[in-house]
Amino acid sequence: MRHNTHMLFSFFMILGIYELFPILNKYDPFIYALILALFGSIFPDIDHPRAYISRGYWSILSAAIRKTTGHRGWTHSLFGAGLFTGILLLILWYFKVSLFLAFGFFLGYLSHLISDSLNPTGVNWFWPKRKRYGIGLIRTGSRSEDLFAVIIIILTALLIYYEVLYGHGDLFLLPTNQ
Ligand SMILES: [Zn+2]
Repeated sequence: MRHNTHMLFSFFMILGIYELFPILNKYDPFIYALILALFGSIFPDIDHPRAYISRGYWSILSAAIRKTTGHRGWTHSLFGAGLFTGILLLILWYFKVSLFLAFGFFLGYLSHLISDSLNPTGVNWFWPKRKRYGIGLIRTGSRSEDLFAVIIIILTALLIYYEVLYGHGDLFLLPTNQ
């Protein structure tokens, strides 16, 4: 799946989760969670040399990771999600930043695994178990991916409309120190 489809899907998923559980906004403001989710949603493809995330300085990390796995190996698993979220937690802790920020990244990462699972290749969710789970609905770069993106855009727009109407758009405001 293309990186922009992954980003779209993570936006939709995180907005949906925050609409369902508005309390989350108190601990990890939506705007911060969204930024980290967008990053998390493209991160797993660091195992692919031509992926969007594997450019520039990231290519060094990508090359190192590719020594340990092929595309959609452990990076595309709950283990990978946990490992990179753990590393992010350590970084946040070191710089004395709120640990809740890692939550958005974790959700974004999961959204990548979920959307890749719509692909025939599937996802190695329970690595090191070898079994891949995929429902073969969408081939990367195909018309079905375009259609999927359009549906996600419409659903996201509806969620934004709902938020503005019933939540007064509070979710989209930067947090203030009361
Ligand atoms: Zn992927």
